[in-house]
This record gives sequence, structure tokens and C-alpha cells, in this order.
Amino acid sequence: MASQTTRRHFLTTSASAITCHSVAQAQENQPQENEENGSSPGNLRLASFRFDITPPKGHSLCGGWIKPVIDIDDPLEAIGYVLLGAGKPIVICVLDWTGLLNNAHLRWRQTLAEAAGTTPDRVAVQCVHQHNAPFACLDAQAIVDTQGDLPDIIAPDFFDRCLVTGYETVKESIKRSSTVTHIAHGEAPVKQIAGNRRIIGLNGKVLSQRGSSSTKPEHHKYPEGLIDPMLKTVTFYNGDRALVASHYYACHPMSYYGDGRVSADFCGLARRQRQTHNPECAHLYFNGCGGNIGAGKYNNGSKEARKTLTNRLLEGILASEATMTRQPIKSVSWNTQEILPPLNPAFDEAALMKEITNKANRTVARNRPAYAVAFMRRVQRQVPLTLSSLHINDVSFLHLPAECFIEYQLRAQATASDRFVACAAYGDGGPWYIPTRNAYPQGGYAVGVAWCGPEVDAMLSAGIESLMKRA
Ligand SMILES: [Zn+2]
Repeated sequence: MASQTTRRHFLTTSASAITCHSVAQAQENQPQENEENGSSPGNLRLASFRFDITPPKGHSLCGGWIKPVIDIDDPLEAIGYVLLGAGKPIVICVLDWTGLLNNAHLRWRQTLAEAAGTTPDRVAVQCVHQHNAPFACLDAQAIVDTQGDLPDIIAPDFFDRCLVTGYETVKESIKRSSTVTHIAHGEAPVKQIAGNRRIIGLNGKVLSQRGSSSTKPEHHKYPEGLIDPMLKTVTFYNGDRALVASHYYACHPMSYYGDGRVSADFCGLARRQRQTHNPECAHLYFNGCGGNIGAGKYNNGSKEARKTLTNRLLEGILASEATMTRQPIKSVSWNTQEILPPLNPAFDEAALMKEITNKANRTVARNRPAYAVAFMRRVQRQVPLTLSSLHINDVSFLHLPAECFIEYQLRAQATASDRFVACAAYGDGGPWYIPTRNAYPQGGYAVGVAWCGPEVDAMLSAGIESLMKRA
């Protein structure tokens, strides 16, 4: 266990962080650029780490509006790596949580940065977005906490425990780092998982939301619609020995949920199977821009279907790995881009607070607006969202916030058509959904819980383009 001093130190750095990450009024609509190019790739080292982030029995799942933890089907993990020797250390980490939002996201980046001896702008923390999992927003937690009768969003002591474990695990991992010499990338289509969640009617509006599972025959009949079928893998090597393999695929990761049984679900289960077969290499799984993508076309929500989806994803992982060819690492660079999108004018803080305080409302109609208010206050404080990318040879790892629509990932690939773009979304989850500009007038569930206005499209697209241009 870490000492109280360490814990207090986290709290202090977190309190000061909001100030140093704020952008000035003058820079409001101007993306912030940061860049640091790597030193000699000959000195590159890599340290992988993993630690348990399974919530205890009774803890809220998905923000407190589904059944809390009654049991653990399989554990939730944080898995990541530290890349050393290309300027200040770079940390990439992915969590089996629904989301990590606003100050909770910043606290993770600060803590892992401190453990690795780097700065938070060189840390990317993404989520897989399972739903029988914590949906951590400390700011929304503070709002529901004042109500007295609402379930927690995230238990602060559990959250702090995860960070203490993370700090110690990352610090220890660096002592066991390995030389990294090569990188390889591969991709293969995944069959019969992803489908677009938004079924658009002849009037141009969302006719039906195809969720993660469905028993409606029409949901299985409608075509897949716009998706990215490719599962992509990027692997780091020491000579011919694989050290870390990162897999990327864009789809909501739920087969079924709401039964109080914690699980990393089909994406986490497929990753774990691959890990069991290949224990010397750390396997990471990232959700791409899966905001408008789900498994509902092919999934009836049964226990059997979870196994089928797990097998299909594992097949995709193996097929992707089979296409990889190693190449020596010649160049490494990291850059970031800050954006501060305006709020969605459909929401009003005072009206949302009335929903939260109305004890006649269901929990979901009270806890959910707390996330909206948390993000609104964050934007009023001018705390931006950070996009980041790691460029190695012709590979770009792109880290985006929240529940981006698939179009952003496809645009990133089109913008850098000469590069292999591995896209991870579900970083800072503050904004909830990030639809495209065109999706707003179509309506539908995602637009109804998108805390940013349609201007986010142009700002995010410009941010992605800027990161790719600096590759
Ligand atoms: Zn979602």
C-alpha cells in the first residue's frame, strides 16, 4: 500500500491541474499545438504494465442507473505501456471501464505521468467502454453526492485505490523495461459484429436505434450501414520477440449488461484469450470511434451470443496479426492538440439541475444530467480536450476523446492515406457522444446526449488533420 503522503500528493497535484491546463480566452477557438520529437530510436525501451480495476460488490455500474455489482464474472483491467528514449517518456493506457471523464481523466493522466517521470500531455488514457463497469466522473459524483438520496457514480475511495495501484505498478514496470527495435502493423476485416446503430428513415431522421443487442427482426435485417470493418494491430518488438500488441476495432463492446455481473465483455474476453495463448507479449484492446456502432445487428443479447462475438473478435485479432511484417524503428514523434468545443445550446444548466433535484425522477434521469452539468462547468472554466498522436515510421496511433462517431476515424485515415492510422477513441469522456455536424438534425439517442454543439465537428476534424500533418 502507498503511504498517506503519496495519496495526499495526488490530491494536491490534481487540485492545481485545472489551472495549468486552462487555455486563455484569446485562444478560445484556436487549437493548441504541442510537439516534441523523439531522440535517437536506437535507445528506445518499452515497459508494459497491467493492474486490476474491478469494482467491489455494491459499487455502481454505468453511472448508477443499472444494477450495482452483485458478482464478478471476470475482472476489469488497466493495461498499458511506457515508451522510453524518445524525449520525455510516453504512456499509453487502456481501461475496462465505461468511461473516465473530466477531472477523473485528468487525475489518471497526472498519476501515470508522475509514475513514469513525464508530463500529463504525454499520457493517453482510453477506455474500452463496457457497461457492467464504472463510469467515472468525479465532478458528476460531487453533484449527485449533494442530493443525499442518489447512488454514487464512482466511489472516491475505490477510485483513489486504483490510482495508487496504478502509480506503483507503472513505477515498478519501468525497472523491467526492454529494448525495442522493431514495429509491425497489420489489419483484417472482422466478420459479423459491427453495424451502424442509427437506422435513418426516408425523412432523413433516425427511425430506430439499433442498440448493442436486439431481438427485433428488423434490426437484424437492416444492412450494416457505415462502419469500419477493419481490426488493426500494431506490435512492438525486441528483435523478433513481440513485447506489446495493440488491437483496434470500432464497436460498442457490450453483448449484454445490466445484470450486476462485472465483465470485460466480448472485446475484453477475446483480448484475454489471445493473452493466454501468447503470455510473453502484452495484448491491449482499444475501441475506435464506435459512438454510432454496435453489435445489435448480429447479437440477440444471449449468453451464447457473447461467446460467438468473442470468437469472431478473436478471429479478427489473429487474422490481423497474420498480416504483420516487422520493420526497424527509424522515427518516433509525439504531438498533441487541444480543442475547446462550444456547448450544445439544447441544454440549460438550471433546467438540468431541476431534473437532478427532482426526487420523483428515475435515477437515470437524475444521474445522467449530472454528467452534462459537470461538462458544462468544465467548458465554462475553459478546460480543453486533448487529442494526441504517436507517430512511429509510417504508423500513427491516434487518441481521441469520448464517443466519437465512426466518420472521424474514417476521415483520419483519409487525411493520412499514406500512413497506417490506428485510432482509439473513448479518452476523456466529458462530452459524451461526439456526432458529426450532419447527425445533429437527424436526431436520435446519441444527439440527445451530446454535450457539445455541432461546431465540435469542424474543431475535432481540424485537430485530427493537424496531428496527422505533423507526422
Ligand atoms: Zn456508448
